[in-house]
Amino acid sequence: MRAKALTIAGSDSGGGAGIQADIKTFQELGVFGMSAITAITAQNTLGVHGVYPQSLDAIESQLDAVLSDIGADSVKTGMLFSAEIIQLVAKKMKEYSSQNIVVDPVMIAKGGSTLLQEEAIEALISDLLPLATVITPNLPEAKAILNWQDEISTTKQMEELAIALFELGPKYILVKGGHLSEGPAIDLLYDGTKMTTFHSERIPTKHTHGTGCTFAAAIAAELAKKKSIEESVQVAKDFITMAITHSLNIGKGIGPTDHSA
Ligand code: PLP
Repeated sequence: MRAKALTIAGSDSGGGAGIQADIKTFQELGVFGMSAITAITAQNTLGVHGVYPQSLDAIESQLDAVLSDIGADSVKTGMLFSAEIIQLVAKKMKEYSSQNIVVDPVMIAKGGSTLLQEEAIEALISDLLPLATVITPNLPEAKAILNWQDEISTTKQMEELAIALFELGPKYILVKGGHLSEGPAIDLLYDGTKMTTFHSERIPTKHTHGTGCTFAAAIAAELAKKKSIEESVQVAKDFITMAITHSLNIGKGIGPTDHSA
């Protein structure tokens, strides 16, 4: 039977991030993709031009429709926007005993637009992180969750972030080092005892819109296929590296990664 994955995230009209990136990634990795849209963004390669959160009723109704009938072997969350949406999603994950929950703690778009209200970070910590199989913060997101001010410039500091995030309840932590200023792109997976490192070349391109969404969606796709977390992260790392290598110079700004690479 075909594995099924659900993304709960924002729509990116520009097609590079959010729901669109997730569904394309699910499709490329051979998983049946479904969606519950939390917010619609008017977006292109130049940035986010409008954010339209959906009503709690609309989000709940999408989740009930999909989970009561089709079911999901994994769930990926992306842009959740508000504390109320986070609380609703957490409630539904419990109600449907959802497994393999990948939480990408999306906060701010590359252009600076808010994708998660600042006051919602508390709800993320109290309601959603304890339910997560894995969370996939980049360095700014990891620092925001932990309220750390220090500049992160070494993998040793990334390990400290992972250890502190693990205390918040997720089963695994994946700290992504793409924001380190130089060197290879290093990501650290922590399971409470062991750190596993994933390396790739740093690819010199500005066209990296949607990388975080794509990486997390690829992990969710592999978890849906019952792969181990280590295997899932390795497949996702290879997938995102190829997608960035072939990223698309379309539009006038920051282009998207190529999911079909
Ligand atoms: N828009 C939506 C709807 C997203 O979910 C995300 C994901 O992080 C972004 C934009 C941000 O993409 P980026 O930071 O790659 O521009």
